[in-house]
Amino acid sequence: MENKILDRHEVDSIYKWNLQKMYHSFKDWEEDYNNTLKDFELVKKYKNKIMKSSKNLYNLLENYFNVSRKIENLYIYASMKNDEDTTNNDTQTLKGKIENLYMSFEEITSFIVPEILKNDYSKVEKFLNENEKLRKYKFFLEEEFRAKKHILNENEEKILSSLSMSLSNANKTASYLRNSDMKLGFITDENGNNIELSDSNYNVFINSKNREVRKNAFNTMYKSYSNLKNTFASTLSGHIETEKAIAKIRNYNSSLEMKLFSGNIPIDVYNNLIEVVNENLEILHKYYDLKQKMLDVEELHLYDVYVNLVEYEETYSFEKAKKEVIESLSILGEDYIKNINKAFNENWIDIYENRGKRSGAYSWGSYDSDPYILLNYQNRLKDVSTLAHELGHSIHSYYSKRNNDYHEANYKIFVAEVASTVNELLLCNHMLKNTDNNNKKLFILNELMELFRATIYRQTMFAEFEQQIHKKCEDGEILTSEFISDIYLKLNEKYFGKNVFIDEQIKYEWARIPHFYTSFYVYQYATGLSAACYIVERILNNEENSVKDYLDFLKTGGSDYPINELKIAGVDMNDKKVIESAIKMFDNIIEEFKSLI
Ligand SMILES: [Zn+2]
Repeated sequence: MENKILDRHEVDSIYKWNLQKMYHSFKDWEEDYNNTLKDFELVKKYKNKIMKSSKNLYNLLENYFNVSRKIENLYIYASMKNDEDTTNNDTQTLKGKIENLYMSFEEITSFIVPEILKNDYSKVEKFLNENEKLRKYKFFLEEEFRAKKHILNENEEKILSSLSMSLSNANKTASYLRNSDMKLGFITDENGNNIELSDSNYNVFINSKNREVRKNAFNTMYKSYSNLKNTFASTLSGHIETEKAIAKIRNYNSSLEMKLFSGNIPIDVYNNLIEVVNENLEILHKYYDLKQKMLDVEELHLYDVYVNLVEYEETYSFEKAKKEVIESLSILGEDYIKNINKAFNENWIDIYENRGKRSGAYSWGSYDSDPYILLNYQNRLKDVSTLAHELGHSIHSYYSKRNNDYHEANYKIFVAEVASTVNELLLCNHMLKNTDNNNKKLFILNELMELFRATIYRQTMFAEFEQQIHKKCEDGEILTSEFISDIYLKLNEKYFGKNVFIDEQIKYEWARIPHFYTSFYVYQYATGLSAACYIVERILNNEENSVKDYLDFLKTGGSDYPINELKIAGVDMNDKKVIESAIKMFDNIIEEFKSLI
């Protein structure tokens, strides 16, 4: 069957998101753009006057957030229009225009925070006491003052910001190397063809049923990285040195403390994750033993671990997916399902691929718009899971926006993947319960095992690597390629265990991971999945109020710190049992899988 990719205008509008609700036409967008530009004056006029009275402070914040809310509408509309068809010049122009407007807004509003922070918090407190309307900004103001001790004087901030481009150079250089200048070499594929290796086809080859092919891909990939090991060590250590310096300048005890500050995440949450995962490595090792048996290889090598253990195909039309998702999530109650139905009935979702459309999937929208979803739906089981995932994000956004003012509607990264993962887990649970097909069960269980391996164990290994190299750097150690690779190799030996053959080239893998240039970020994948497991367990066990607690958590948006918000859902991230119970779930899944083969 031939499947021609349609042009955007050929796709029936029932399958497309309805962005007209945001702006009827580009002309309306232009009009709003011009009005917004004029509104800049409403903010500017408070320069040197913000703290003169509580009324001034209130009006300034109102105007500031109103303008930024308008910019958000303009920006998100232009970006999503552009994603519909990235080859469209008109939407590229809109996008460029709004990006410039956003930058100039940043520039003209840069006086606000320093001007507020010149005062003691007692003055703000006095304002809050006398002005009831101002109280909606209490958390915002508290947050600014919490950060005060890490903000430098005006001149120092200027110096730092003038250096910011150069300070991010290590990351840029590494990314140019990886994405364009570096050649990964050639390998022979399953059909005997000579093929140039790339990052994207590597993911296909490393999954190959043909062991020679995946071995070859693995060796070729890491040979290329080993050739550039000193350059990559220099970019990575450059990045880490920079963070160390900035942390010191800004009065933090470490880069880790600096990075966890914005979400007010206790360092113990980070350390506990690593500790609990380390105490439970034998479960991961059991999973690798299972892989070795199923692949029927004498020794499991690192180029074997990505091979798919179970094949299963079933076609899911979008209608069928919709039904499956609604059934799976009905445990979350009427109100949740009512909103899921809104997503389907009110054209939140851009379902199918078309020429020029952005690849992948996401959930996005502004405070005033619907929480839209972009998909490239292809009727596979995996696409059903993506649909449930993105709906999780969108409904989380929907509740956040409905229950919070604009300035407190956005939830933090730390909790961002919780709602999406809860939906994925509920979908898997529902499908497992409702099929007699052994192969389908094995397929779903295998997907789940991979989710735990990749999200809890692998991301924690990354987190532990970051913890170690940043610490070494802060202790004055020089991060040479040998030093970094040695640390990385030891971690791999520990995480894969003694039954897996550790191909030594793996010690250069750190050079391939872009996330190490966004320090202390990846641990949130592991904590997010753990929190989601905990919530799902409570719900499936019918614990009292578990659904209500979860929905209340979704409604908190950005009105509190992530750790406090999760407590509402019954999850105490300071308690090790959250990670432990996720690992227990992984263990149960392995056992269930074993009992079915
Ligand atoms: Zn997501």
